[in-house]
Amino acid sequence: MEQQDYTVVIVGGGFSGIGVAIRLLDEGIEDFVILEKASQLGGTWRENTYPGCACDVASQLYSFSYAPNPDWSRVFAEQPEIQRYLLDVAERFGLERFVRYGAEVVAARWQEDSQRWEVETTQGLFGGHVLVSGAGPLHEPRVPALPGLESFEGERFHTARWNHDHELRGARVGVIGTGSSGIQVVPKIQPLAAQLTLFQRTAPWVLPKPDHSIPAIERAAFRYLPGFQRAYRGTIYWLLELFQLAQRRPVVMRQVQRIGLVQLRRQVADPELRRLLTPDFVLGCKRLLLSNTYYPALQKPNVRVVPTGVTHVTPKGVIDANGGEHRLDTLVFATGFRVTDPPIAERIFGRGGSNLAKVWDGSPQAYLGTCVAGFPNLFLMIGPNLGNGHSSAFVQIESQADYVVDALRTLNRDGLTSVEVRRDVQESYNEEVQEALQGTVWNAGGCSSWYIDAKGRNTSIYPWTTVDMRRRLARFDVAAFLAQQRSDSRPTQQPLRTVDQDAAVGAMP
Ligand code: NAP
Repeated sequence: MEQQDYTVVIVGGGFSGIGVAIRLLDEGIEDFVILEKASQLGGTWRENTYPGCACDVASQLYSFSYAPNPDWSRVFAEQPEIQRYLLDVAERFGLERFVRYGAEVVAARWQEDSQRWEVETTQGLFGGHVLVSGAGPLHEPRVPALPGLESFEGERFHTARWNHDHELRGARVGVIGTGSSGIQVVPKIQPLAAQLTLFQRTAPWVLPKPDHSIPAIERAAFRYLPGFQRAYRGTIYWLLELFQLAQRRPVVMRQVQRIGLVQLRRQVADPELRRLLTPDFVLGCKRLLLSNTYYPALQKPNVRVVPTGVTHVTPKGVIDANGGEHRLDTLVFATGFRVTDPPIAERIFGRGGSNLAKVWDGSPQAYLGTCVAGFPNLFLMIGPNLGNGHSSAFVQIESQADYVVDALRTLNRDGLTSVEVRRDVQESYNEEVQEALQGTVWNAGGCSSWYIDAKGRNTSIYPWTTVDMRRRLARFDVAAFLAQQRSDSRPTQQPLRTVDQDAAVGAMP
């Protein structure tokens, strides 16, 4: 099979992949390919089309800083508009010619001899000096392996695989899960269903969503006064940064909880239902949820909240954890994603053929959430401990794209064939991360969440502000890496240079 060779191979055409591609073009690098498994770009925003799917980060911030959209119709845009924005940006920056559609990565293998990645896909072989994985942490649905699931005679699907051909009107629908997806979908499908049963294993905190449609005058101001839009975006960014500081301290978050309790008291009249819906952990421990319509939907006569998970599925329905039987025609899994065991890791093989999923063994680790010891010239977008519970994914994407480009510059400038993060650097960085997470609301808030992996470590959250993240990713710190020179086949270890605390932070937000 003939191999197509590039400087950079990007896996995935979601916001991460296209963010890196745009940055490469900006740097004058055109020798790259985006491998997209589907027939359209979009990543998680292409996959999640469930009714009510919307962003819970204000759209002015949930967009590229260099591609502001003055036309957002709402404060928190809905999925179709976000997907349209993504496709518009891809078109505006001329990315189409770099994309290979239907090219799903089967295996990516580091070739020690040639110091390159060989990427086997469903569309043939691709070679790259550098491999960037933009496969996304919130992409692969997690469906619990419930006993009897296969025997269910009704229709079942995950929120990220919504079956739009399936008629919900008049159906007895069960929804499992009360995270971001669950609380968005329930108010939308409640009016259609004959009966909606919500299986709530854990009552979430739900805060008011400051959402409204954006009036034409405001959109005109965004269009004709770009400084106004930048200031608006900047205000949201800095307010969220302040919120992040609060999230480190559960004692502060307990005060913020009052807003959730007020919303619960105002919106839920029945004290018994209110009791079922009152969370027993500190707000912020799980991802914050925003909705004005969730609690009202739960009080409609056709809705029942079951305060447990599901233990069994039967041909006709499900059995809850108290042994109660529920007859259902449709079962919706709003049960989240494979964040800490991402399937892409099973397909990446580094130095000596070691497999990333095996190396991680259910507990992912990287340096700056981006590079992994034993995996030269590999960059993971929104990798381990780079998630933030408060701000926009675009902050990570743009910072990491800068880091990748600076790594490419370094490879070129220093005549290097590969850079591989030093194991000791990765380990001490991760110790620092884990230490910083101790006592924060994500670790000590009294909940179980997708931030925590199978080994009980929080491998999802970045414990510091995004200002700090941007500073650390502003420059590729080659001293933290084993670098292999073109003429030399053995890695040369360079003396450790501390990261410059005053390194310039880019123009974000
Ligand atoms: P999630 O936050 O992981 O929530 C999964 C839900 O399913 C939880 O309520 C969980 O219960 C429940 N669950 C899982 N397994 C279960 C089982 N075996 N039995 C009963 N219940 C079970 O997933 P998500 O709602 O899809 O959201 C994931 C992330 O995607 C969000 O945190 C957010 O970052 C992102 N997202 C964002 C938006 C947005 O507005 N931008 C929308 C959707 C998703 P427990 O709480 O008891 O574990």
